[in-house]
Amino acid sequence: MHGMSGKQILIVEDERPIREMIAYGLRRAGFEVREAEDCRAAREQLADKQPDLLLLDWMLPDMSGLELAKLLKRDKGTRELPIILLTARAEETDKVAGLEGGADDYMTKPFSPRELVARINAVLRRSEAGGGEDRIEFQGLALDRASHRVTAGERTVPLGPTEYRMLEFFMSHPERVYSRDQLLNRIWGGNVYVDERTIDVHIRRLRKALEDYGCDHLIQTVRGAGYRFSALTH
Ligand code: CA
Repeated sequence: MHGMSGKQILIVEDERPIREMIAYGLRRAGFEVREAEDCRAAREQLADKQPDLLLLDWMLPDMSGLELAKLLKRDKGTRELPIILLTARAEETDKVAGLEGGADDYMTKPFSPRELVARINAVLRRSEAGGGEDRIEFQGLALDRASHRVTAGERTVPLGPTEYRMLEFFMSHPERVYSRDQLLNRIWGGNVYVDERTIDVHIRRLRKALEDYGCDHLIQTVRGAGYRFSALTH
């Protein structure tokens, strides 16, 4: 399994044998690897040069990986940095908390190097789709970042600025469930106080705007979890 070439991964893990084992596997897969043993060292490295992805252990001596993930997702400068959280705990609640905290994916130890490389590649692809392309298309619905315009076929879909940002986020992160809290962090940024119900209001407006073009089914409610942008009926 090959990693996406030239991509730089920062591993934050205090247990040296594990860190070195992961680093070895990733270097073999073609990634460029940097290492940090705690959150303080990680933040220093991040300030120095941002990697393409952060592989962050949950249990660290100075601050939990989850807390660091939250901080990074709330900071404009690091908000787009993809994070995979490594955890030794397998409980479902931890996973949900991890994702709400801003991690893009999580892996439960132990895992194979092959599995890790596959996940890293998937997260990198997802983040590139979100960051790089000027135009995103989904079942006839097209969002053009340069003109801030959304079209369905030949027709322009009129959207308010918040609905536009929301749709842009969803279209660049399809097939994944986001909780209200996560959407708040990712779309509004963590620094503003917005009630979670605000999300529902904007979701309703977005659906209504898409309804006339037959695209409202793309925004799906996942009971007890949040919302998902998907072309599949689940
Ligand atoms: Ca650890």
